Amino acid sequence: MKKISLIIPCYNEESCLAAFDREISAVAEKMQGYRFEIFYVDDGSKDRTLDIIRRFSRERDNVRYISFSRNFGKEAAMYAGFCAVTGDYVAVMDADLQDPPSLLPEMVKILETGEYDSVATRRVTRAGEPPIRSFFARVFYRLINRISDADIVDGARDYRLMKREMVDVIVKMGEQNRFSKGIFGWIGFRTYWYAFENVERAAGETKWNFWKLLKYSVSGIVSFSQLPLNIASWMGIVCTGLSLLAILFVIVRRLLFGDPVQGWASNMCVMLFIGGLQLFCLGIIGQYVGKTYAETKGRPHYIANECSDDGIEKVN
Ligand code: UDP
Ligand code: MG
Repeated sequence: MKKISLIIPCYNEESCLAAFDREISAVAEKMQGYRFEIFYVDDGSKDRTLDIIRRFSRERDNVRYISFSRNFGKEAAMYAGFCAVTGDYVAVMDADLQDPPSLLPEMVKILETGEYDSVATRRVTRAGEPPIRSFFARVFYRLINRISDADIVDGARDYRLMKREMVDVIVKMGEQNRFSKGIFGWIGFRTYWYAFENVERAAGETKWNFWKLLKYSVSGIVSFSQLPLNIASWMGIVCTGLSLLAILFVIVRRLLFGDPVQGWASNMCVMLFIGGLQLFCLGIIGQYVGKTYAETKGRPHYIANECSDDGIEKVN
């Protein structure tokens, strides 16, 4: 009998968990030919999330969990899940029911045709999302697809059912600056894209605001593309070329018309422009140096202070 593992990252999800548990139990009931393992990751929640998860794990024997010592972020939570679960098929699923568990039977069916190694989901609508967020999301997906090997589809969610082979590769990719959507695309394998209509959060509220998303996007781009560095070099080359022309102009003018003191305005413009450009390029380099620094420290992705069993690494 094949085992399906579901990884559920939870950060302050007390208002969603009961509904989630109901849905997932109903789906498991329908899929009689499979065993289920539900792996909750409490990502340092400050509400009653951990109490509820503990209760689930007491009441059911297919529920396991890990609880972080603080909030490490959804990426760390997913990594902890990938490292701990034991299923033949594995999926990450949000606790707020925005990744509908009801799609699972269909997704498993597609995997079992043998033609695909993973079934990934994407939202075809973004109904219920602030328009400004949708706009920037679109721009981001277009950009990152163009400049990296990450291969991310617009509207892609982290919800995807994967075969064990793929999960083993993801666990091996122990990078600190994790951007899972990029990692899933980068490792390749045959992926089927399953489209569905956006579902709004069952309860509670989103943990992301505009700045957090912007930071996450910049981090994703820096993790998967060196284009910003190349742009900085190219800007340097273009500026050098232009300055050679400007020097030529200054010399010729000096020879023809002498050297009356003037040109304060043009001087200031050039200085300010070049100064700004240099800082901008330094900033780009800084982004990459910062990431490299984080990688070299090799700190753990997460630290847990409670787990359901010994098969889970507490610091990893
Ligand atoms: N989440 C998490 N740690 C965080 C932020 C979010 O584990 O620091 C979980 C959250 O509990 C949810 C999932 O990640 O299960 C997606 O978060 P959310 O619904 O807030 O994101 P959105 O759907 O708005 O993109
Ligand atoms: Mg959500």
